[in-house]
Amino acid sequence: MANERKPLEIKIERTSVKKEKPDYSKLGFGRFFTDHMFLWNYTEGKGWHDARIVPYENISLDPAAMVFHYGQEMFEGLKAYKTADGKIQLFRPQKNIERMNKTNERLCIPQVDPDETLDAIKAVVEVDSDWVPSEVGTSLYIRPFIIATEPHLGVSPSKTYIFCIILSPVGAYYAEGINPVKIYVEDEYVRAVKGGIGFAKAGGNYAASLRSQKKAYELGYSQVLWLDGVHRKYVDEVGTMNVFFVIGDEVCTPALGGSLLPGVTRDSALALLKSWGYKVSERLISIDEIKEAYKNGELKEVFGTGTAAVISPVGVLAEGDYKMIINNNEIGPISQKLYDNLTGIQWGTVEDTMGWIVPVM
Ligand SMILES: *Cc1c(COP(=O)(O)O)cnc(C)c1O
Repeated sequence: MANERKPLEIKIERTSVKKEKPDYSKLGFGRFFTDHMFLWNYTEGKGWHDARIVPYENISLDPAAMVFHYGQEMFEGLKAYKTADGKIQLFRPQKNIERMNKTNERLCIPQVDPDETLDAIKAVVEVDSDWVPSEVGTSLYIRPFIIATEPHLGVSPSKTYIFCIILSPVGAYYAEGINPVKIYVEDEYVRAVKGGIGFAKAGGNYAASLRSQKKAYELGYSQVLWLDGVHRKYVDEVGTMNVFFVIGDEVCTPALGGSLLPGVTRDSALALLKSWGYKVSERLISIDEIKEAYKNGELKEVFGTGTAAVISPVGVLAEGDYKMIINNNEIGPISQKLYDNLTGIQWGTVEDTMGWIVPVM
């Protein structure tokens, strides 16, 4: 007999007062939350226990809980999509769970069982399935996160944790078509160095990036392009996205080396580009090479990849006073093809030949 796995036992307490649904044409990102959430406790010596789905509510913690003082916290981000025939599906959730455990390992947070975690994600999405919007381009953003809860001011890994999953219906990222973004090469602050936590999806990375993000806004840019923290020379990634360049007939992206986040969208874009026969490489890319390619007319496209926007074309890339206008500030053919195919697979209008889709219900 095949060893049948026992699914995670989840106690479900449904809310007695359902919230009013927001206007699905004005969702924005991460502003509305559904009726329920998933909770799972960890206690040293006992492991993860008491998996449950409860009405969405405040979490009560001791003010000495370690997450408030030393930032032992991790998060993930993925989406559930509603297809034209009303099915709800996830895109490569196993990749998020795998990354979750890599982040946990780095931050001394206990590992989660991948199958049980997928059970939890599916269960909470199913309970709140009436919150998965069906308007074109909308989806249900899934935010799993783990916080250290032990009340103790000593610096050490917490002995207790809460794993929570909250859900947020999110709008079409590009309400008026895909507008290329303006990006500024950060030359003052750094995001991460090899050996640090750059590859981990940890809140601390974002706290450290806010100052730079604020500066970018003030200068009229929407995000920053991070360079490596040692030489300040090689490209790492964009604020919340990985970055790709089309130079001549090559599509390249910085290689994973510890300082950048291994994006699921990045991995998916690489796989699709390879399957289509493009010349694809993961390697060191210096900002000087990018400027040189631009001067020679070889820099055809620049785009970011991430779960929120999927593909985000870069129209302006500026280093100090030097401004590069990419592809006439319009989305390029490779960016468009990736966008159409990735979103097509996610919403079920393009055949999923890669086996990336996981049905919820
Ligand atoms: C989440 C994230 C990305 C994109 O990862 P996806 O899995 O594609 O959503 C890129 N960079 C950073 C810093 C991130 O936190």
